[in-house]
Amino acid sequence: MVLKGIAVSPGIVIGKAFLLNSDSFVIPRVKIKEEEVFREIERFKKALEQTRQEIINLQRKLNREVDSKHSEIFNAHLLILDDPVLTQQMIEKIKKKMLNAEYLFQQLIKNYEKAFLKIDDAYFKERISDIRDVGKRVIRNLLGRKKMNLDSVKEEVIVVSYDLSPSDTALMRKEKVIGFATDIGGRTSHTAIMARSLKIPAVVGLEKISAKTKNDDLLIIDGNKGIVVINPRPEVIERYRKKKEEEKIARQELEKIRELPAQTCDGEKVEISANIELPEEIDSALKEGAEGIGLYRTEYFFLNRSRLPTEEEQYRAYKFVAQRMKPYPVVIRTLDLGGDKFLSHLNIPAEMNPFLGWRAIRFCLARPDIFKTQLKAILRASKYGNLKIMYPMICSVEEFRQANEVLEEVKKELKREGISFDKNIEVGAMIEIPSAALTADILAKEADFFSIGTNDLIQYSLAVDRVNEKIAYLYEPNHPAILRLIKMVIDAAHKEGIWVGMCGEMCSEPIFIPLLLGLGLTKFSVSPLMLLRIKKVVRSISLSKAREMAKQILSLSSIKEIKRFSRLKFKQIV
Ligand code: PEP
Ligand code: MG
Repeated sequence: MVLKGIAVSPGIVIGKAFLLNSDSFVIPRVKIKEEEVFREIERFKKALEQTRQEIINLQRKLNREVDSKHSEIFNAHLLILDDPVLTQQMIEKIKKKMLNAEYLFQQLIKNYEKAFLKIDDAYFKERISDIRDVGKRVIRNLLGRKKMNLDSVKEEVIVVSYDLSPSDTALMRKEKVIGFATDIGGRTSHTAIMARSLKIPAVVGLEKISAKTKNDDLLIIDGNKGIVVINPRPEVIERYRKKKEEEKIARQELEKIRELPAQTCDGEKVEISANIELPEEIDSALKEGAEGIGLYRTEYFFLNRSRLPTEEEQYRAYKFVAQRMKPYPVVIRTLDLGGDKFLSHLNIPAEMNPFLGWRAIRFCLARPDIFKTQLKAILRASKYGNLKIMYPMICSVEEFRQANEVLEEVKKELKREGISFDKNIEVGAMIEIPSAALTADILAKEADFFSIGTNDLIQYSLAVDRVNEKIAYLYEPNHPAILRLIKMVIDAAHKEGIWVGMCGEMCSEPIFIPLLLGLGLTKFSVSPLMLLRIKKVVRSISLSKAREMAKQILSLSSIKEIKRFSRLKFKQIV
């Protein structure tokens, strides 16, 4: 069976399927007989014990492989499981209502949630997510489902799931996951971006892969074409093995340009840096020939943990990145939580439109405690290399100024404490909201640099959710509106004499490089995986031809025309 989805992370892998159940399982309501009551109570107790063991094992694993702080969150889970009142309530319910344990346990958990919500105390509110989590684990065990985490995986697997959060994906770096496939998702979702960072071939938006696959089915993931083959015939496996081999040869060819400069054939120097999510990616970015880090997404530091990272922890990470990349620049983007990235332990209420909601700089300005801690850590690390600060989701000059006011306060505090930092550290704005692009001329007077975030700029300009596979066909960098906005930002930056780059995924796609060069961009920050391919395009085109091409494209009116024209030119030029 062949399923077509959205290719999000290149490469071909062949392996066995491992199904991760989504949290949205259906819980049946089943009447039980008098003589079945005892057995039901025993079944419930067994599920509690099973969950207990699961949590203890997970704690041990985290202690061993990450650190003890990460495992502390589970102490609260164990306390809930060991609560005698909860067990007694369940036993009485089973006896009285004569219904199956999973159904009654779900009701009980909901009642607890409601009761805790009514208590006006932050501690109880924070415990709600623990109760929910424990509830899901126990119910999953009652239903005989496999657990969500990947720690039981002993051999290399391809994960199949309805969905994966960016934090689930981040955990895969420690596991034996060689590829993944999901029912939902889009190309610029953070889950997809993480897959590329970890170099895990992946296809999303397959709609029914989780229903059509069984554990241990043999799968082929073609992350180049967005295809998944379930239980392929031997000749199909052979064909993909050959393709894999060809890929290896192509890669060896690409490696030949690693040491060569990134410049156009008429001599224009281009800076190609890398986007990273985790400090440990630095080495692979350097290996690919990155001349800097154009976007360090710091929020991954905050995910998959039970409490906020301290200033000291952050300082050490930023210092490591600064030193390792020196003398190259590192653009540290301040915390961009919200959207599709959440911290469970902060208990931020769910929103109807998270991408339009309490996200990124909005969240940081409302939580100066968190923001200041991060800024302080960045400033302290700044003396060890060439760091730059960048605020995400700036929508107006007021917001940029507000963020700078907080930065000034932090600088003053450091001066008072006698702690040195780079006093000339550059501070830039991500241009990823149409209002910022449209007022780039105003912002350019106050920012030291711009970085164009096309992932969000496209979603907000075209009103297309970047993680929704149903409307992925509308998510289109070739839309004339997007090209005009990009041009506006570049022109405004050049007029004010500040530098401008792009860190959105658009510039990790070779087809767009001639156009972007022609529009005046010479700084690209790309997924490390794509770095050499982008360099190859840069080296095979002349700036004058690129300019001419961009001019022609800007005069076209439809996406279709632009795509056709770009493809044709790309074939001729590159
Ligand atoms: C962007 O929006 O283009 C961007 C680079 O930021 P993120 O993908 O993290 O939202
Ligand atoms: Mg963004």
